[in-house]
Amino acid sequence: MVVDTGGVITVSKSKNERQATAAVEESSAIIFLVDGQAGLTAADVEIADWLRKHYSHKFVILAVNKCESPKKGIMQVSDFWTLGFSPLPISALSGTGTGELLDLVCSGLAKAEEDLHEEQDEDYVPAISIVGRPNVGKSSILNALVGEDRTIVSPISGTTRDAIDTEFTGPDGQKFRLIDTAGIRKRAAVASSGSTTEALSVNRAFRAIRRSDVVALVIEAMACITEQDFKIAERIEKEGKGCLIVVNKWDTIPNKNQQSAVYYEQDVREKLRILQWAPIVYATAISGHSVDRVIVAASEVEKERSRRLSTATLNQVVQEALAFKSPPRTRGGKRGRIYYCTQAAIRPPTFVFFVNDANLFPETYRRYMEKQLRKDAGFPGTPIRLLWRNRR
Ligand code: GDP
Repeated sequence: MVVDTGGVITVSKSKNERQATAAVEESSAIIFLVDGQAGLTAADVEIADWLRKHYSHKFVILAVNKCESPKKGIMQVSDFWTLGFSPLPISALSGTGTGELLDLVCSGLAKAEEDLHEEQDEDYVPAISIVGRPNVGKSSILNALVGEDRTIVSPISGTTRDAIDTEFTGPDGQKFRLIDTAGIRKRAAVASSGSTTEALSVNRAFRAIRRSDVVALVIEAMACITEQDFKIAERIEKEGKGCLIVVNKWDTIPNKNQQSAVYYEQDVREKLRILQWAPIVYATAISGHSVDRVIVAASEVEKERSRRLSTATLNQVVQEALAFKSPPRTRGGKRGRIYYCTQAAIRPPTFVFFVNDANLFPETYRRYMEKQLRKDAGFPGTPIRLLWRNRR
C-alpha cells in the first residue's frame, strides 16, 4: 500500500506534518524524496533530522528526483550524502533509477516483516487454559502438566481467591502461562451442585477464555458433546483464540482399533463444526503419558496463531482463488474486484481485502476465500479473520 503524504511542511504541527507523521508511523518503508535540481535545502536537513530522531528503526530510502541523466545524477546526489542516508538518483519523468528504487523498497519491506516478527516474539509468554465440563479430567491434565501441588486450593468454601497463573515450559521449550481454572472448579463444586454448577462452569470458562491465547477444550471420550461444550466452542471462535480439542479418558473406549479415532473424529467434527480447524488430541490424563502431546499441540497452535504470511504469498493464494472462482455478478452486472490483500494482524491472523465494493462479496464467497486461504496456507488451530474494505 502506497501512502502519499502530500508533502512535509516543517512548520510544527501543521496539518501536513501531522498527516505525514501518521503515514510514516504506519509505514514499513519510507521514501524520502528530494529535488536533485534544486539541490540540498534547509527543509531537507530538517526532515532528515526528524526521520532520524523519531524513526531510526524504520527503513528510509533517500531518492533524489529529477536526475534524468545517470551521469549527471551522480553529481546531483553528492550534496545529499550529508543527510545521513545513501542517496539514489531517480527520475520520475524519464523512469531512470525507478527500477532500483522499487527493488530497494521491496528489500525494505521484506526486512520490516522479519523485524516485526522478532519484535513481537520477545518476552511474549502465551497463556493457556484448560476448560470443559466438570469431571472431564481438567485437573488431572493440569496436574500431569505442572505437578500435583500446583492445584492446591484454599479449602474454605466460597472464598474468592484470585486465580494463580503458573508458568511452565513444554517439552519443545515453549513457555506457557497456565491459567488456573481447576482451583475455581473446586470452589464451584462446594458452592453448589447440579445445573447451577454447569452454568457456573460455563461462565468461568468464558472468563478463562478471555485471558487465554490457547484454549484446551477437554471433552470426555464416552460422553456426548453437549450444548455447554458448544457454547464454549463458540466463544473460543468468537474471541479469536487458538484451540485444541482434547478427547480425554481415551482409555475408557472399549475395543479400540485403528478406526476408532477416525470415527470419533467424524463425530466431533460434526458436532463442533465451529472448531473444524482445531486439532484433536486423544489423551488419558490419569496415566499422564499422553499429556505431553497436549502441550506440544498447544505450542503448534500458538505458532500458527502468531504466524505471518508474506504479502507476496498471500496475494498469490488470493489470485489463484480468484482465478478458480470469481465473485458472482450482481443482477445489475456488477462484479466484485479484489485489488490486493494484506495480513494486518496476528493472534489471530487477520487479513484485509481491499476491494471495489465490499457489498459485492456475499457471505458464500467470503467463506470460499477463507477456505482457500486455509487450504493453501494452513493455520490449523487458530481462527482467522477476513476483513473486506472498500478502496476507491
Ligand atoms: P475436572 O472436573 O474436569 O477437573 O476432572 P478431574 O480431573 O477432577 O477428573 C474427574 C474424574 O475423572 C477423576 O475421578 C479422574 O480420576 C478421572 N479421570 C481423569 N482423566 C481420566 C482418564 O484419562 N481416564 C480415566 N479413566 N479417568 C480419568
